[in-house]
Amino acid sequence: MKLHMVDLKSQYTNIKADVDAAIAEVLSSTQFIGGKKVSEFSDNLATYLDCKYVIPCGNGTDALQIALMALDLEPGDEIITTPFTFVSTAEVIALLKLKPVFVDINPSTFNLDETKLEAAITSQTRCIIPVHLFGQPCHMSAIMAIAEKHNLFVVEDNAQAIGSKYQLNNDEKKMSGAIGHIGCTSFFPSKNLGAYGDAGALMTNNERLYNKIKLICNHGSSVRYYHESIGVNSRLDGIQAAILDIKLKKLDSYNKARQEAAVVYNKLLEGNNQIITPKIQANSTHVFHQYTIRIKAKRDQVAAYFKEHNIPFGIYYPVPLHLQEAYLDDEVTPQKLPISEQASAEVFSLPMHTELTIEQQTYIIDHLNKALS
Ligand SMILES: *Cc1c(COP(=O)(O)O)cnc(C)c1O
Repeated sequence: MKLHMVDLKSQYTNIKADVDAAIAEVLSSTQFIGGKKVSEFSDNLATYLDCKYVIPCGNGTDALQIALMALDLEPGDEIITTPFTFVSTAEVIALLKLKPVFVDINPSTFNLDETKLEAAITSQTRCIIPVHLFGQPCHMSAIMAIAEKHNLFVVEDNAQAIGSKYQLNNDEKKMSGAIGHIGCTSFFPSKNLGAYGDAGALMTNNERLYNKIKLICNHGSSVRYYHESIGVNSRLDGIQAAILDIKLKKLDSYNKARQEAAVVYNKLLEGNNQIITPKIQANSTHVFHQYTIRIKAKRDQVAAYFKEHNIPFGIYYPVPLHLQEAYLDDEVTPQKLPISEQASAEVFSLPMHTELTIEQQTYIIDHLNKALS
């Protein structure tokens, strides 16, 4: 059986006519960077997320870096984030000579544990970066309340959760990424809303931050060849915007397909006491960027079996950031983060995408059961 961790080929085949026509349109317009398609997509994404401003950029890592650059931070300022995430989140903090402070995760959601946040706040803390891992939002009500109390910025890393909804304590429902002061996302091809190359975006409801972010993305310049501040070159291509605009219209149905596949996995895994299936928290939706189980004792045995039988899987993430060589600095990592460390030893992500069939899932779980026996 031919299996993929992410099946971008079948997904493309299903939207080929629209995508090819949109690309051809950009080619004949020659608006390769910026232009009409980019502003149309940005407007449509702002409407979808119900936020005032969307600023497209080159990729998700740039989005995080630009967000921090827009906050007027000083070297040595502390940024609190999770160690259980893709490296970008901490990388941009370190690149800007800020100090990453890692707070351990909730064992059932893999997200930053908001109950441990306040203990990590010092007089140097300026910002919290919650990462909505695997498609499920962090507890944003609690995080926003703590941020407000301590006068901190919140930058959401929404690279894995675009399209998920979160219900705030006042019952108001918001889209993830549009809750904090700035939201960041990635349109890396395998993300829930993926381009056919690198792309990313920032979102905000704050006009002052919007103007700053726009300036930074364009070399700190609003009038050509005049530079008010130091910026970067991070822009969205017209071709990527045209593709993203087509896929944005399908995002809810794509996320629904992922949720349905998760339900099928849950059913197939029912009663298997050697693994733990993903937990869905009460006050939000989970858009299953990954379907990540925990395998209590035999994770490496299962991984070896899957490799041998050509069944794709992922281990996100094998080493938490506070134990990565690049961040092995006593100043940065004074503490042990046992829950993240245990997660790294137990997580196992199964194939998850919009074109997954029940036959494929049954085959995968049959093999998982064999590997565990
Ligand atoms: C993918 C991802 C990023 C980085 O996005 P790029 O577009 O690859 O730069 C950042 N944070 C998280 C949590 C991600 O999953």
